[in-house]
Amino acid sequence: MTKRDYYEILGVSKDASQGEIKKAYRKLALKYHPDKNPDDKSAEEKFKEAAEAYEVLSNAEKRERYDRFGHQGVSGNGGFGGGAGMNMDDIFSQFGDIFGGGGGFESFFGGGARGGRRAKKGTNLRVKLKLNLKEVANGVEKKIKVKRQIVADGVTFKSCSTCQGTGQIKKVVNTMLGQMVSASTCPNCGGSGQMIDKKPDHADARGLEIKEEVIPINIPGGVADGMQLSLSGKGNEIPGGMAGDLLIVIEEIEDEILQRDGNNVVYDLYASFIDAALGAHIEVPTIDGKVKIKLDPGTQSGKILRLKGKGIKDLNGYGRGDQLIHVNVWTPKQLTKEEREKLESLRDSENFIPDPGNSEKSLFDKMKEFF
Ligand SMILES: [Zn+2]
Repeated sequence: MTKRDYYEILGVSKDASQGEIKKAYRKLALKYHPDKNPDDKSAEEKFKEAAEAYEVLSNAEKRERYDRFGHQGVSGNGGFGGGAGMNMDDIFSQFGDIFGGGGGFESFFGGGARGGRRAKKGTNLRVKLKLNLKEVANGVEKKIKVKRQIVADGVTFKSCSTCQGTGQIKKVVNTMLGQMVSASTCPNCGGSGQMIDKKPDHADARGLEIKEEVIPINIPGGVADGMQLSLSGKGNEIPGGMAGDLLIVIEEIEDEILQRDGNNVVYDLYASFIDAALGAHIEVPTIDGKVKIKLDPGTQSGKILRLKGKGIKDLNGYGRGDQLIHVNVWTPKQLTKEEREKLESLRDSENFIPDPGNSEKSLFDKMKEFF
């Protein structure tokens, strides 16, 4: 694999001063910092590449060797020059404190969680949350019961004796090219620099215990099946690091009467032939209880009525959907002798002969109008 020239990576000349090199690296590190480019592999690669270049060029001895022998001169046991590439944690622990008086990356990057130490995060917890149509429509406050790993009460930490709290082990290795220092994550503390001093009996080896907690969460209206909400810091804790996140996966319970269609709610109304012909006031269910609607005399089957604002809240705050009422005129399936006689007498009555005009749009046209 051909490696890019370190000077080229940092964009500085061969005779650049230490100040220029530092400034160039600072700029690149800020630009490609993983906190600014989450889940961006190419940014991560650039961030590592810049760190590697800086690691060599900021060290007078390594820089001289690099100038004379190229990448060969600094590969092998010397720090990051080897084929294995750099590890993010190494970058943070190596360079965390180079940008001014002890402030470390925190001051450099404006208060990130990564100090000079390896940044550790607890695992995420994932729970399913079932919501009915009303809860989905209006939003709801829920209390979620979770079992989290938390740092147990009474656990105290001390500085790791293996690495003296630095989180890493430095080894001085003699090579043909002289002495080199290699750094690796401390196996004793896993890079946190801390070890458990005292812990209560019920805590595990890492000082953690499992605790059941009830966590309140506000679900906004308009969420949909499969959506995931994240509560940062409410996942599992980890000693010396940040807690993971609590991920809440939404499951919609289908309503037996009202159907969801985006932010609208659709209701199938079955009206009697008499009500459709004479007009009527009919009670229909909505998300927020029953509502009386007026059916005009002469309502055709297939008509769609709209109850404005009786639908589902828009997740992004753009108002609220409607309830659409789809009118189906119910034809009696069986008739008594008396009923049959009454209807029979109307069979040839002129108003009972179908005569759809332009005002009776086809179902297809109606659908186009509404969706
Ligand atoms: Zn250690």
